[in-house]
Amino acid sequence: MRRVAALAAVTALTLAVSTSAGTGHLSAPTTAGPVGLARSSALAPCTVHAGLDIQMTEGLPTPHGYARSTGTLHALTLMVDFSDAPGEGNAMDRFHEFFPQTERWFRTASYGRLRYQALTPISGWLRMPKPFKAYGIERGAPFDPGYRELVKDMVAAAGQKVDFRSYDILNVLVTPNAGPSALDTVLSVTFAGNGDAPVADGVPVANASFIYSRQDDGSGSYARTGYRVLPHENSHTFGLPDLYTQEGGGAVGHWDIMSEDWGADNDLLGWHKWKLGWLDGSQVACAATRGSSEYQLTPLYKPGGGKLVLVPVSAQSSYALEVRAQGGNDEAVCRPGVLIYKVDGTIDTGRGPVTVYDSHRNSGGCTRSPNVQAELSDATFTPGETFKDPGHGITVEILDTDADGNYRVRVTRG
Ligand SMILES: [Zn+2]
Repeated sequence: MRRVAALAAVTALTLAVSTSAGTGHLSAPTTAGPVGLARSSALAPCTVHAGLDIQMTEGLPTPHGYARSTGTLHALTLMVDFSDAPGEGNAMDRFHEFFPQTERWFRTASYGRLRYQALTPISGWLRMPKPFKAYGIERGAPFDPGYRELVKDMVAAAGQKVDFRSYDILNVLVTPNAGPSALDTVLSVTFAGNGDAPVADGVPVANASFIYSRQDDGSGSYARTGYRVLPHENSHTFGLPDLYTQEGGGAVGHWDIMSEDWGADNDLLGWHKWKLGWLDGSQVACAATRGSSEYQLTPLYKPGGGKLVLVPVSAQSSYALEVRAQGGNDEAVCRPGVLIYKVDGTIDTGRGPVTVYDSHRNSGGCTRSPNVQAELSDATFTPGETFKDPGHGITVEILDTDADGNYRVRVTRG
């Protein structure tokens, strides 16, 4: 019955979307979701359902109102400045701190399923009518009243030069001299799925990412890695939650850009790729029944092959297994192997909805890369190692690996 209920819910959402939406607009409430989930009854027991009253959930399906995560994404990108923080140099230089790297990052992460196009109908600085100070923007500031004012003023300043109906998301690249240094306070923020945002050209500006300052740690890597705050913020517009907590990256480490977006490049977890529709149902296995089954997993960064084994614990939580190795967006992997983590649809953004299990606890990790949470860098399991959850009768054994970096795992449920 649960399965039927879940499928009915998916259908209802799809109907709601098709009756209320235009297409390809900032407001378009496309439901991003796993390709083939509704069709594949074998995967239904592994649907992680969302808890009630969760702001941003790991659960499926992603609620409507977020931006499309497959196909072509049109990202309106505006560079803004203020009378008390005038833009220094060319606005397009600010744009090039983030592009084309962000487009490339999404193309690689999505195996070509998301074609991100950043568009700049206004190539100079767009001057806001009030000084930066007047908007009262600080870390954690809510949408009202400061951001609402800023968006309204931006829409008015853009005037006839921008037709907001032509875009799926808005990027606001604020001049770096407005506000504090990102070394002291990170102001960058996204308001996503925000149906009461100010309306422009008849559509609400519902999915908007604001980037401030520069995430430059002085290690000399800014030109190469400083863009990474933008794919993090944009991933919120697809409905992904923050995986770092008040204690920082200790829950997921550098295994997902929603956990850590400074330093060396990193990818998204396989769960996120599934949630965003970047994996086929045939690349995901669901170990829901009693007994033992073996699975082959190929490294997450390589297109094609088996990517994710889900081992459900409840209707709202599941273990996930995937192979991580160096390649693609995964730059800092120092111990290739099988990453094991738990996804919980009832835990909200920033409170630890994903937890990675560390195969080598208190080892200090294997990385020396700056801005990479060290302890979890050697969290992966390798052949001969076993993960056990005796409470749920679940055992995962890593059997072997081959010359192509594929791994075989055995999942046993008692
Ligand atoms: Zn975030």
